[in-house]
Amino acid sequence: MSKLNLIGLSRSELETRLQKMGEKRFHGRQLFKWLYSVRQYDFELMTDLSKELRDKLAENFEIKELNPEDHKISVDGTEKFLFRLDDNKPIETVVIPSEEEDRRPSTSSGQSPSTNSGRNTACISSQAGCAVGCFFCATGTMGLLRDLTAGEIVGQLMFLRDKYGPTAFSNVVMMGMGEPLLNFKNVIDAIRIMTDEIGLNISPKKIVLSTSGITPKIIKLAEEKVGVRLALSLHAATQQKRQVIMPIAKTFKLDNLMKAVRLYADSSNLPVTFEYILFAGFNDTRQDVEDLSRLVRGLRCKINVIAYNPVPGLDFKRPSDDKINWFGKELNQKVRAVTVRKSRGMDIDAACGQLAARKFEKDRVSAQI
Ligand code: SAH
Ligand code: SF4
Repeated sequence: MSKLNLIGLSRSELETRLQKMGEKRFHGRQLFKWLYSVRQYDFELMTDLSKELRDKLAENFEIKELNPEDHKISVDGTEKFLFRLDDNKPIETVVIPSEEEDRRPSTSSGQSPSTNSGRNTACISSQAGCAVGCFFCATGTMGLLRDLTAGEIVGQLMFLRDKYGPTAFSNVVMMGMGEPLLNFKNVIDAIRIMTDEIGLNISPKKIVLSTSGITPKIIKLAEEKVGVRLALSLHAATQQKRQVIMPIAKTFKLDNLMKAVRLYADSSNLPVTFEYILFAGFNDTRQDVEDLSRLVRGLRCKINVIAYNPVPGLDFKRPSDDKINWFGKELNQKVRAVTVRKSRGMDIDAACGQLAARKFEKDRVSAQI
């Protein structure tokens, strides 16, 4: 029988498991710290546990990390890892250097560009594939392969810290593959491990959960009080337009969705980010600026205007740079916090919406690793 992998178990789950083995609960806390904070994966070296307990743990459990099957580095320093899960399902994780950093491609020795001042963003996956099927997204074309476990979600961050050290990343965005709010329990468990001070000890304010807009789950997220930042993938400012590009918008209508977003902003006391992909000739006119600014009026928020990253086979166009700048400027006159986001890692298909591991597989043979 295979042993249970401890990575992904919460502090209370570890305490309960040890208690069931006839041990004191506080050993669960010690184990939690070894796992996530120290990242010591050899039971024998967990020196504040008795020899007897260490042997017992080794008999019953294992600590198994994610193993990258592939790794690509963009000219702009963005890195993408492909992990093959136990059941062979692929997921991808991306590390995006802060734009001020002069990052050079890393070498295989583990001397990474990530050993800079640590202002990197780790973009992690919450599912293998995605069921939501937004018409512009490469991950959406894969369909849902399966939910990730909490261990597979935090495992992506643990891998990065093990490879590059404590400065591997300073921010986490759940903008990789998958819709985090459709894998709710595991995502919440993972967030609790990430934010626990004897876990990965990441401030919740440094974590962004991005959603396509699953209204009831946004309300539930507010109730969980995890304190992470919320990003809504809006992409169109009216119900009519939004449902043309995002089928999920037919289920979760924009007016209710915005109420839930406002509720989250109030209860978390944090500004919400709206992601707005610009598609040429679809949502890039003055009218769209008007609609968008009206929609967010009175809400403490930030709008990220993102140029569409082309996905082969999908029928959308990226606007010209001039058009993107114009839109950003116009919007900025009405809404204070607007950023226009440059694409990162496009040459290795690591940009937002370009993660589709099947394509990665096809490319592998010719990739320069
Ligand atoms: N499922 C979540 C998080 C993963 S997608 C969500 O949809 O929010 C992360 C971001 O990439 C989302 O804002 C999504 O709309 C955006 N995205 C998807 N395809 C894209 C593309 N081709 N170009 C630019 N952004 C894209
Ligand atoms: Fe899924 Fe997000 Fe892609 Fe939509 S944009 S298909 S929700 S990963």
